[in-house]
Amino acid sequence: MTARLKGAVIGCGFFAQNHLHGWADLDDVEIVAVCDVDESKAKLAAEKFGIARVYTSAEAMLATEALDFVDIPTTMETHEALTALAFAHGVPVILQKPFAPDLDGCKRMVAAAAAANVPLMIHEDFRFQNLFRTVREILDSGELGRLTFGRLSWRTGIDVYSNQPYLVHVKRFMIMDVGIHLLDLARFLFGEANGVFCRTQQIKEGIAGEDAATILLSHEQGATSILDFSYATKREPDPFPQTLGEIEGTEGTLIIGADRVLTVHGKDGTRRIAVPHDDRSWTSEPWTQIQDSVVHTQRHFVDSLRRGVEPDTSGRDSLATYALLEAAYLSAARGTLIHPDRLG
Ligand code: NAD
Repeated sequence: MTARLKGAVIGCGFFAQNHLHGWADLDDVEIVAVCDVDESKAKLAAEKFGIARVYTSAEAMLATEALDFVDIPTTMETHEALTALAFAHGVPVILQKPFAPDLDGCKRMVAAAAAANVPLMIHEDFRFQNLFRTVREILDSGELGRLTFGRLSWRTGIDVYSNQPYLVHVKRFMIMDVGIHLLDLARFLFGEANGVFCRTQQIKEGIAGEDAATILLSHEQGATSILDFSYATKREPDPFPQTLGEIEGTEGTLIIGADRVLTVHGKDGTRRIAVPHDDRSWTSEPWTQIQDSVVHTQRHFVDSLRRGVEPDTSGRDSLATYALLEAAYLSAARGTLIHPDRLG
């Protein structure tokens, strides 16, 4: 593998701007080409980030460029075709969430990656936030004892529809858009889950899917967790895009407060930890913690490629997260508890 990995970005839309900034922050990566079906977006990205070549066809780009990886920050309905192209050229992929419209689609892509023997990682960035890296370290220290309960809460009233207008039309909306991050975080913090109960709500009028949901998970290691998330919460100050919550164990409690302040109460007393941002030149509030996490996610992908190991949020690993999503939608439709391992 070359000293500087040569990558390309397919899709230069709203969130891809963070990806492009992130790659520019990694010294051992060079983005040599960008591609968007909308040529003006690809050209704009190339000019802004000093990228040599512009394509409007991923097929033409993959046929021409010698790439160490492609980054695909497009929306999910394009993922299966674009990953198939990359796999056909033996090029590793980092793919923005949501993985696919349903679990079967995720399984097909994992099988295709395996058949081509090509690495596939899902860009699932919440677990790579500085905040949740610190939470994970506290849990690993054993200070809270055996985990018994967790709540992860993400509620906002921001106008998500102006930056991401396609969200008005999607039937699987809130769990797919935000719930998926919390399902991955729940696995990261509390381990695998074997039971899912979910209630969805559509609060805003005129949208196709749910804009609020509450999920209860039972975890194999004994904890119960509750994930609640909403785009229809009128609150001041609006915490967007922060995840708030609490984690209880047999020896103590950790509160995930606003503005990245953790309060840890254990046997030896109570302390507060203010988790800092990275101090990057291009990040801005309220997005900073997400933007920082994009770079950490990319770093993890590159390190995994270089070491030849499976990334933490590989396509294969992410099947467990998407099985929880599928179980949540089924639970909401049926009003019953679903065991994700029995989805078939
Ligand atoms: P977007 O529509 O702004 O951008 C997608 C771009 O891909 C568009 O410019 C489009 O022209 C291009 N495109 C589509 N098909 C293509 C193809 N076949 N070849 C080349 N280019 C193609 O979308 P967005 O709002 O940036 O969202 C992209 C994804 O990012 C979504 O799935 C969203 O859920 C995710 N997202 C993640 C986070 C996070 O925190 N991880 C935050 C926001 C959005």
